[in-house]
Amino acid sequence: MRVSQMLLPTLREVPAEAEVVSHRLLLRAGFIRKTASGIYTYLPLAQRVLKKIMQIIREEMDKQGGQEMLMPIIQPAELWLESGRWQVYGPELFRLKDRHERDFCLAPTHEEVITVTVRNEVRSYKQLPLMLYHITNKYRDERRPRFGLMRGREFIMKDLYSFDLDEAGLDISYRKMHEAYTNVFKRCGLTCRPVEADSGAIGGSTTHEFMVLAESGEAAILYCNACDYAANVEKAAATPAAGLDPAVQAGQLQEISTPGQKSAEEVAAFLRVEPCQVIKTMIYKTERDVVAALVRGDHDVNEVKLLNALQAINLELADEQAVRQATGAPTGYVGPVGLANIRIVADPEVMALANAVAGANKTDTHLINVNPGRDFTPDLVADIRMVKAGEPCPKCGAQLQEARGIEVGQIFKLGTKYSKVLGATFLDEHGKERHIVMGCYGIGVTRTMAAAIEQNHDQDGIIWPAAIAPYHVVVIPVSAKDDAQMQLAEKLYQELNRAGLEAVLDDRPERPGVKFKDADLVGYPLRIVVGSKAVQEGLVEMRQRRSGQTDLLPLSDAVDRVK
Ligand code: ATP
Ligand code: MG
Ligand code: MG
Ligand code: MG
Repeated sequence: MRVSQMLLPTLREVPAEAEVVSHRLLLRAGFIRKTASGIYTYLPLAQRVLKKIMQIIREEMDKQGGQEMLMPIIQPAELWLESGRWQVYGPELFRLKDRHERDFCLAPTHEEVITVTVRNEVRSYKQLPLMLYHITNKYRDERRPRFGLMRGREFIMKDLYSFDLDEAGLDISYRKMHEAYTNVFKRCGLTCRPVEADSGAIGGSTTHEFMVLAESGEAAILYCNACDYAANVEKAAATPAAGLDPAVQAGQLQEISTPGQKSAEEVAAFLRVEPCQVIKTMIYKTERDVVAALVRGDHDVNEVKLLNALQAINLELADEQAVRQATGAPTGYVGPVGLANIRIVADPEVMALANAVAGANKTDTHLINVNPGRDFTPDLVADIRMVKAGEPCPKCGAQLQEARGIEVGQIFKLGTKYSKVLGATFLDEHGKERHIVMGCYGIGVTRTMAAAIEQNHDQDGIIWPAAIAPYHVVVIPVSAKDDAQMQLAEKLYQELNRAGLEAVLDDRPERPGVKFKDADLVGYPLRIVVGSKAVQEGLVEMRQRRSGQTDLLPLSDAVDRVK
């Protein structure tokens, strides 16, 4: 491509609205333009990078047995009513009506459609396992779209869903995806760390977030250098409350096995009690669960409401009003709010409950005959805090380190959550009907592009990792007025293309300084300058964008050196 013919609108000024490096550089280097808040147009260079990231993702998904398909973005409300998420998704869900006043939404994720598709097509254990994925736009009306592509309202995601016969099968699918994700981010040139994440009040099953370590990251993670422990702070803080254990030891409370029962409704149905008797929120000590306590009233905590609330806490520390608004918690529920010091006043309704059910400090176990007023006190709820750097690693005892991270992907064991509500079953080898065991696995494609810049830039611009660079090399003739230089540059450019390399020729009649500045800003991994030395001695100058290393080499060697 010739720069004179490209839509490559670089900017000298730093756009005022851009707070983080990737947003600034994507605007300045002519990759994106804002269309509306959180909604962007991807200019040609950005599209090239996105296609490369998607290609890497496709290769790694296919390698693990993934099959690519394509699902609709506009989805009927019926599907979401069936899964129960129409009611609970909250304001993040873009809703719309067709001309017949029928309700639809713009998909923020695709569990509903994929589960129903598999429900309708799969009958027998012989058709499983399956791994199905697609790459499409996702829509989330984020409370605070910001940081450019980092938190958009329209963004590109790859989401894969696994369908297995049983938990053992899910374990295998999950491990495959863990490996695929590790490979994807490595190939994209990113330093990424999988961390154990808290699956929130609803889940309770295994999940990992893939974090690109960067100062601008919105998530705080804790990790251990002595062993492989790494978790997001919410997970790290999820040490079970100790308060109930003495009551168990004293024989006041009875432990009862509840294998695989996760949500309040599941537990209630299993134990044959009313869902409102199941207290989930008081017994875990994660920030998420504290926030869940704020929205108590619905004991079945709405995950999205909760995540919004979490965001509110991160953004507006100590702003009670904001948290109350975000969570809908009534006055009196929220004390002084801060990351390290969250206090809530215990819900009198919960405290008055007799004979409630609460999660035990053990997996697959609940406590029955819980009497909140007797068995735990508001103080217990009040001593919630986040784990901090310097505290002992829960695995090996060494000191924990803290870092900031950008969540570029997440893998999640769903179990039978969706197959149960949507009735996705199969007949096993004995002809018995069973629920399909599912997992879901997402990568933010556009966020990955932004994260790559957060990790790879300097004061002059972007430094693309070679595998996802929009072009491999830019050829710059020093003087566009010098015919001999232009001819040599043109010839080199042609040869590079013929050799299968992606080259750009900066043939604009600009001063060399302008072209060099643009080349650095755009972030081509290699720059070849064709000047008077090329004409007189047949030598060109090749410069590595990352190291700044510059070599003079014979023009005839240039193509081989780029390869
Ligand atoms: P976050 O915690 O940042 O809000 P999420 O946990 O809600 O993200 P998931 O539902 O796990 O996101 O979606 C999978 C991936 O999609 C995320 O890991 C992230 O890379 C990407 N993603 C999610 N929300 C956005 C967004 N608003 N803009 C861009 N990418 C996003
Ligand atoms: Mg989110
Ligand atoms: Mg998240
Ligand atoms: Mg996530």
